Amino acid sequence: MTSLFQNYARRSVHLVKGRGTIVTDDKGKDYLDFTSGIAVVSLGHAHHALVEVVKRQSEKLWHVSNLFESPEQELLAAKLTEDTPFSHAFFCNSGAEANEAAIKLARKHTKKNVIITFEQSFHGRTFGAMSATGQVKVREGFGPLLESFRIIPYNDAQQLEAAIDGDVAAIMLEVIQGEGGVNQIDPDFAQLLTDLCKSKGILLIIDEVQTGIGRTGTRYAYEQTVLEPDIITLAKGLGGGFPIGAMLGSSELFQSFGPGTHGTTFGGNPLAVAVAQTVVDIVFKKKFLLEVEDKSNYLIEKLQASLSKDQYSIRGAGLLLGIECRDEVQSFIQQAETAGLLLVQAGANVIRMLPPLTVTYEEIDQAVDILATVLLAEKVAVT
Ligand SMILES: *Cc1c(COP(=O)(O)O)cnc(C)c1O
Repeated sequence: MTSLFQNYARRSVHLVKGRGTIVTDDKGKDYLDFTSGIAVVSLGHAHHALVEVVKRQSEKLWHVSNLFESPEQELLAAKLTEDTPFSHAFFCNSGAEANEAAIKLARKHTKKNVIITFEQSFHGRTFGAMSATGQVKVREGFGPLLESFRIIPYNDAQQLEAAIDGDVAAIMLEVIQGEGGVNQIDPDFAQLLTDLCKSKGILLIIDEVQTGIGRTGTRYAYEQTVLEPDIITLAKGLGGGFPIGAMLGSSELFQSFGPGTHGTTFGGNPLAVAVAQTVVDIVFKKKFLLEVEDKSNYLIEKLQASLSKDQYSIRGAGLLLGIECRDEVQSFIQQAETAGLLLVQAGANVIRMLPPLTVTYEEIDQAVDILATVLLAEKVAVT
């Protein structure tokens, strides 16, 4: 019997503690956590600086309403927007909420309704974010969705041009579709998108909920492209495991989110903001980001050396990598778990690797050894 709604397909492991990349279950078994709670625990489990800041802030103040001023939110906003096209931030509690804010702001600012999004995208589970999401399995069974999302194939130039008319407020996309299979934006498509947004006055919203905060080796994934977003959304890695979301926007949007237009009780909570400030201070250091890039290259090389190239294709950036297999990967992920390596799927055929950004080279070696052993035994890709 369970007292929980069965809306998650939970694995039968009960994790009770963690340190760095290692998590331990209730029977004392250790695992290498290459899920990071789905790109959340960016600095690993129980990072000393985050533990300290939670302790310190929890003794000072837990909650302040957004009725009052917040120099702490101001400081976090400044850290996130420094040296970017963005000038302002709105804080919330999750990725879906950040995307809701972006959808509302884009509609209000442009006074238009249509938002173009992409097949295989994932933007969250609330009605707006679900309506934006290009996956039937997410949308099915919930009745009429929010109108005026135009969902078109990703990286399809012709369809993009055909979808644009005078009603389009914004285009919203992930630079790497995380849930949808670790699909990367094509450079040519990114150039076309940038040109169209500029020439037609369309806002560009980039959902960096999964790719942001160092996950792909730069502060934000769009920095590795020609894309010039007006809005980005953040969540997962921003709090290192503490719930927080954010929307960053350019200065021209400032007037459209005036008093009373939008809000949330918990958004920008002092505990969440204190933790996020610490995460950003650590992750946005050049040396840290270069190391993410270096570990990524090391992991890709190890994978390529251990797996035969014609059977697997590896894609993604930074420490958001996907291994596309020919067969479904669910049973493989189960086997890897038994062997002490936690992984997550992206679509039916893709194994996603999302270690903490603080993963060590030795842990990468160990993970790839487990992966290669299990893949060979399971013959996942052999058809
Ligand atoms: C996880 C995710 C979301 C939803 O975030 P929640 O915090 O679960 O609401 C939105 N967009 C992307 C790209 C995500 O990966």
